[in-house]
Amino acid sequence: MDLSEFYEDKRRPCLFSRATKDLIKEDIEKLEAALAELEISVSSISNWLQKRNVKVSCPTIRRHRKKECDCGKDA
Ligand SMILES: [Zn+2]
Repeated sequence: MDLSEFYEDKRRPCLFSRATKDLIKEDIEKLEAALAELEISVSSISNWLQKRNVKVSCPTIRRHRKKECDCGKDA
């Protein structure tokens, strides 16, 4: 029995990745740098994203930053 569909579902990027994937390359690079800089708060990142019409909740950002989300499992 082919169960690959279920595995595909498991590896699906988290909400954070899906919400931010349409940002321009420059913004994605900036966002990743901000995520790596732990002195930048999750709420600052959330506000920055909101200015770009991307709505991601703080817990989602926090999870992604800590790599506790689904897209972090592959790395
Ligand atoms: Zn993620």
